[in-house]
Amino acid sequence: MNRTVLLIEDNEQNRYLAAFLLERHGYRVVAAADGPAGIALARAGGHDLILLDIQLPGMDGHAVARALREIAALRAVPIVAVTSYAMVGDREKSLAAGCTGYIEKPINPETFVAEIETYLRDAVPRPPCPES
Ligand code: MN
Repeated sequence: MNRTVLLIEDNEQNRYLAAFLLERHGYRVVAAADGPAGIALARAGGHDLILLDIQLPGMDGHAVARALREIAALRAVPIVAVTSYAMVGDREKSLAAGCTGYIEKPINPETFVAEIETYLRDAVPRPPCPES
């Protein structure tokens, strides 16, 4: 069964690159362009990991992470923040908001999937979806 990543990212090019790299390694990617859409998808379940851009229009990634952590079914799902090096304090705020870890933007295509996999390795496998 392929692992599924929920990608919450407003920038189309960033979304394309992350999805491209993950899909090339056999992951299934479900994408949302803003926080509320991402939360709605997350509630539906079935994701092994959530990749969360912090700089989102409207509801920022920290607020999204806090909202996701309030959903009991998502407590064990790793949330990896994508933080901008230029934004001082983003990492600390991301962890305080409930993210499991962070990766730095711009993402490095050479190491991106390996970084994601370190978070999946430590995660508890999710129960299989009835429909899959
Ligand atoms: Mn963004």
